[in-house]
Formats: sequence, structure tokens, C-alpha cells
Amino acid sequence: MSEGEEQSEDDCPFPLCPRCGEPVLLVTSRGPHDHEANPCGCRVSGNLLE
Ligand SMILES: [Zn+2]
Repeated sequence: MSEGEEQSEDDCPFPLCPRCGEPVLLVTSRGPHDHEANPCGCRVSGNLLE
């Protein structure tokens, strides 16, 4: 427990997509109320990464 490995699946550096649970690396905006998570491609709210 003291080997310096603290990686955990619950400690992902990226937010998880609220729709599919995949890590969201990028959110692209198509419009003021139309945002798409990448790479999974789900539509999400624009403040997911904020
Ligand atoms: Zn998704």
C-alpha cells in the first residue's frame, strides 16, 4: 500500500460523460445550447468541463 501507486478508477483526470460514462476529453460546441462530448459523441451540457 506504500508503493506510490495511487491510481484509481475513481480518480480519472477527465470528467465522465453523464450519458455513457466514458471519460470526456473535449467538449465541442455547435451552438450556445448544443454541446458534444468527445470522443464518445454524446450531447452534454456546456459546463461539463468547467
Ligand atoms: Zn458519452
